[in-house]
Amino acid sequence: MSPVDRADPSYRVRHSTAHVMAQAVEEMFPEAKLGWGPPHDRFENGFYYDFDLPRALTPEDLPEIEARMRRIIRGNHSFEYRVVSADEARRLFEGQPYKLETIDDLVEGKDEYGEARSGGPVISTYTQDTFEDLCLGPHLEHTGQIPLDGFKLLDVSGAYWRGSEENRMLQRVYGTVWPSEDDLERYLWQREEEEKRDHRRLGAELDLFSIRPEVGPGLALFHPKGALVRTIMEDYWRHRHRTGGYDLVATPHIGRSGLWETSGHLRWYRDGMYAPIDIEDEHYYLKPMNCPFHMLIYKSRARSYRDLPLRFAELGTVYRYEPSGTLRGLLRVRGFTQDDAHLFCRPDQMRAEIDRVLDFCLSVLAAYGFANPEMELSVRDPRTPEKYAGSEADWEMAESTLAAALDARGLQHRRMEGEAVFYGPKIDIGILDALGRRWQASTIQFDFNLPERFDLIYAGADNQTHRPYMVHRALYGSIERFLALLIEHHSGALPVWLAPTQAMVIPVTDRNLDYARRVRDELAGFRIEVDERSERMNAKVRDAQLQKVPYMLVVGDREERLGGVSVRLRTNEDRGLTELSDFMDRLHEVVAAKSGL
Ligand SMILES: [Zn+2]
Ligand SMILES: [Zn+2]
Repeated sequence: MSPVDRADPSYRVRHSTAHVMAQAVEEMFPEAKLGWGPPHDRFENGFYYDFDLPRALTPEDLPEIEARMRRIIRGNHSFEYRVVSADEARRLFEGQPYKLETIDDLVEGKDEYGEARSGGPVISTYTQDTFEDLCLGPHLEHTGQIPLDGFKLLDVSGAYWRGSEENRMLQRVYGTVWPSEDDLERYLWQREEEEKRDHRRLGAELDLFSIRPEVGPGLALFHPKGALVRTIMEDYWRHRHRTGGYDLVATPHIGRSGLWETSGHLRWYRDGMYAPIDIEDEHYYLKPMNCPFHMLIYKSRARSYRDLPLRFAELGTVYRYEPSGTLRGLLRVRGFTQDDAHLFCRPDQMRAEIDRVLDFCLSVLAAYGFANPEMELSVRDPRTPEKYAGSEADWEMAESTLAAALDARGLQHRRMEGEAVFYGPKIDIGILDALGRRWQASTIQFDFNLPERFDLIYAGADNQTHRPYMVHRALYGSIERFLALLIEHHSGALPVWLAPTQAMVIPVTDRNLDYARRVRDELAGFRIEVDERSERMNAKVRDAQLQKVPYMLVVGDREERLGGVSVRLRTNEDRGLTELSDFMDRLHEVVAAKSGL
């Protein structure tokens, strides 16, 4: 596990900063036992060092370590390299058990990550100031080249020596180092913003979903509010598909092994599938994809050229094995609902079909406020044509159709040569969130393999049988992932049309409670709640704001007398006294436009 590329230009500065940190910690704790300290990618431009210390470090220790590091940096100490013999190294690092273990490895020709090292055993050290470390480098020339105000220590956490639970737990101090203070500040701001927007934290705070150990990792429970948002997304999806020329289908969660053999999943995708379930002496598998079922729906009757194109769409929940270490909130889960569709068409319909599905995806994404997606076109590696299913002519046609559809819309795209999967080229649509992060959303994927494997045919106008073209398409990607993206993009303040509670009616005193309920009933059809708790009004306003409710409708004696509501926004803007009918009109407008407040 070489975490970082030594040729990376930032390697030297990160590595050198790690050594300076180790010197600083050793000054604070002369009895420290040192582990390793390479660059690391947990944080951007990151580095760490592992220590075995007489006491646990706390975040309060970090500023002192940083201050000592600055003093060392200001000393402009040069990093001196020297090669030593094994005996000499063992003398130098007497009393440093982790270093002695590493020396044994080096003698055996492994590097500091325990991997075989090319060029035979070399034991070397780097020294700066009073600190000498067993090290292969490379390093900066001197400590003064480390940006004095460009580094920061970010975290202390436990780490087993060599990553093995059988070994002793060391303390790992993480830091990051940037060319300037401005770069560091920008990075820290971005990181803080990402933490604030983390959908796992917001999902708990807004009571949207949870992932519980009793159920298992990667399996999300949607609470009433989260399920409501999800249902609104699904309803919108269904509405768009039904009015967009798709047929909705529904298929089971499991299917017998023969199906997955026909589809090729048991051969090519087995690692992503769970162990079979035995039913009446037969193996059944949880579905990792919906495709085989849709192929069988196509095959359920004879198809003629007049039936095409056919578009089958399903919100199908699939189950895929993901290692537990890679799971992350709703972004990477083990059970998720794909918003899937399969398009079947004749060759002469291909271009129109691709135009149509591309416009469809862009229009639905735009409804969520993602107007400028990033497009990637994945095509064959022309040097290895034998790797791919389907004929040369099919690939030519498919690749040029996808490219032409993008060009016709003036959509800039990156052409990813060799990135196509073996069964067909594809378009990936990525969207940028409020922090400029790219998220993979829709995929439009040709498939020359499955129609073959399932022997899909239609009767042509020429009375001959023909093979239809087939395209897989996911729009959100998955409901869970897209919801995670929406939560992070909006910092939990979902647009009014998606907000689980669109307005909270807040009575000023108990005698306004009846009026508050009347306001709610007048707004029937919207998602309106009355805060009936006996809290003070300001506390209720604050709580509704924390729950990111778009509108707070404060009703007291004056509002009651005039038949209105005082409108406060979650942004804290005060819109003042508004007639109820005016507010209702506004709400209609905002929900229809899917934006604004
Ligand atoms: Zn080193
Ligand atoms: Zn599919």
